[in-house]
Amino acid sequence: LIRFDHVTKRFGTNTVLDSLDFTVSSGKHVTLIGPSGSGKTTILRLLMTLLKPDEGTIKVGGEYLTHEEKGGKLVPAGEKHIREVRKNIGMVFQQFNLFPNMKVLRNITEAPVHVLGMEKDAAEERARELLDLVGLTEHLDKYPTQLSGGQQQRVAIARALAMRPQVLLLDEVTSALDPELVAGVLDVLRDIAHTTDITMLCVTHEMNFARDISDDVLMFDAGRVIESGSPEKIFTEPEHERTREFLSAVL
Ligand code: ATP
Repeated sequence: LIRFDHVTKRFGTNTVLDSLDFTVSSGKHVTLIGPSGSGKTTILRLLMTLLKPDEGTIKVGGEYLTHEEKGGKLVPAGEKHIREVRKNIGMVFQQFNLFPNMKVLRNITEAPVHVLGMEKDAAEERARELLDLVGLTEHLDKYPTQLSGGQQQRVAIARALAMRPQVLLLDEVTSALDPELVAGVLDVLRDIAHTTDITMLCVTHEMNFARDISDDVLMFDAGRVIESGSPEKIFTEPEHERTREFLSAVL
């Protein structure tokens, strides 16, 4: 469903991703781990088209994200093409980024109504189902500032799912939360991972969570995948010295 081919991304002279290749199959849950600055967030930002690669191609759902085919030739993707492919991708950020001037229910219905053209009633029905899924049914009439950080993050998860994306990108979604709120958010995500067929690509420092939900774990260092495999393999028998060092620092 997601395919990176020889993707290179530089910021000035800093090569953040170095001819990176990886794929995520449909319905799989893949976690990216690795030291700070190894390029994990950059991968999610490329998928959200917040950044463009310097070299290489990215495909989502069989379509190029970075390019489009015109007259049999591959040309850099235009805005319209990017918007279409991006509809398949939902993202939850470290900072929840809810619309502060809208109540919870409207935060969730806004994009389905205005971007997908869904009927308001149908969008509200779906939003109520999603609020039930994230355990916030009784808060639908509140503004984001009336909720805790953990509750706001659960609204952000419901909002991302409301667009029915094929892929959910999660970028360190618990790192801005007070410690006592982390478990509630991770429980919701575990539930989604185990009960839906959505594809997930997560960047997280929560190793127990990564172990619970991942089909595959990719260990990054200096813009490359240095090791990958099942959580059992990566967490219990890592092959690479850098992986062992990283895990002993975070576990
Ligand atoms: P962390 O776990 O700390 O979030 P990360 O693995 O997600 O780290 P990235 O955020 O992808 O790492 O950043 C990789 C490198 O790219 C870092 O050295 C960072 O300083 C650099 N970088 C990221 N964004 C920019 C930018 N917009 N301009 C310049 N350099 C950037």
